[in-house]
Amino acid sequence: MTLSTEHSELPALSPGASHRLLKHTFKGVGSVGSVGSELSAYIQAGLHADELPGMLVIQHLLDALVKLDNAGRIRGRIVVRPFANPIGLGQRVFGAHTGRFNLDNGENFNRRFPDLTSRVETALATRDIGHNDVKSAKALFADVAAELTPLDPVAAMKAALLTEALQHDIVLDLHCDTDGILHLYSNRSQHTQAVALARCMQIKAVFLEDRAGGTPFDEAITQCWSVLQQAGVVDEEHTAFCTSVELRGQADVSDAFAHADAQGILHYLALRGLVELDPNNDDGFHPLAEHDVMVFPLEGVSHVPAPAGGLVAYKKRPGDTVKAGELIAEIIPLLGAIGAARHPVFSDVDGLLIVQQYMKLVRPGQRVALLAGKEALPHRKTGQLLNDF
Ligand SMILES: [Zn+2]
Repeated sequence: MTLSTEHSELPALSPGASHRLLKHTFKGVGSVGSVGSELSAYIQAGLHADELPGMLVIQHLLDALVKLDNAGRIRGRIVVRPFANPIGLGQRVFGAHTGRFNLDNGENFNRRFPDLTSRVETALATRDIGHNDVKSAKALFADVAAELTPLDPVAAMKAALLTEALQHDIVLDLHCDTDGILHLYSNRSQHTQAVALARCMQIKAVFLEDRAGGTPFDEAITQCWSVLQQAGVVDEEHTAFCTSVELRGQADVSDAFAHADAQGILHYLALRGLVELDPNNDDGFHPLAEHDVMVFPLEGVSHVPAPAGGLVAYKKRPGDTVKAGELIAEIIPLLGAIGAARHPVFSDVDGLLIVQQYMKLVRPGQRVALLAGKEALPHRKTGQLLNDF
């Protein structure tokens, strides 16, 4: 068995009220001549702490990894964090859990991770790292991340998550939306790996961008690798694959979903050589065909706003195809005269409905739906591609 478990303490929010991060590390037994023996993966869930599906997926994944570990079938290093945001996990307002924003200052927990790019550039100037020497690149990242001096608990938590993630070749950050189908976000340079993971996890919608903006967790990691890539130190295939995987909607927490999603992750890890699955154990795994994975530019995502406030009645479901001009929902104003007309909401793209609101009372301008279109929309700008809600 190569499993070890570690707790680390965050600065206390108030005297006597501190939080702990937990991580499980499977060191793996390696394999002579296998590229997998050099690879490592980091998987976390619940950075947005009220997005629970990923936390159950990780429980299923850990059960499977322990079995593989006991059988000597883990080849690379795998680090798993069952909950990435203990501070958000504890946030409740009058009984309702709210874990997307820091109640202390209103900040989205998955924005404004430390931007280490200039520190990486500076450190790179003083080192001689061989071409595609990923081990030395990770050592550089560790040194740079060690310079962070966070004082408040959330900053310390972000620094700890980023420091860990920069030591891995594969980083899976498990999220979900309000109500939606499986989808994932990644950088355009990681097209091949994004599609490979999507096929394993039966994810039909993949969103790629050059830079989403706002420095979410995955972008903070990708930017560091980009500095090395642009300096010619590492090739594209040696930079880390980082992705935010959206595991449907907030209510989609079930053993059936979690088991399937964990199986998908395991098969992706097997594809990359980090685990060796038992060929005699037929788990019924069927990857999606490559042509069933649709790749969309993040610049082609439409966040359709509510034209008025009221109750929303959907005419389409997540996963449905939509045409530009097609009715996707109606807003019932409530305040109008009896029988007053509803406000129609139309699609502005030809594509797919990915996300709708779980709670059906909306404010004017609130996102009613996330639609995926194949063509970039003129108002969608690189670096400003993420919504807070
Ligand atoms: Zn999230």
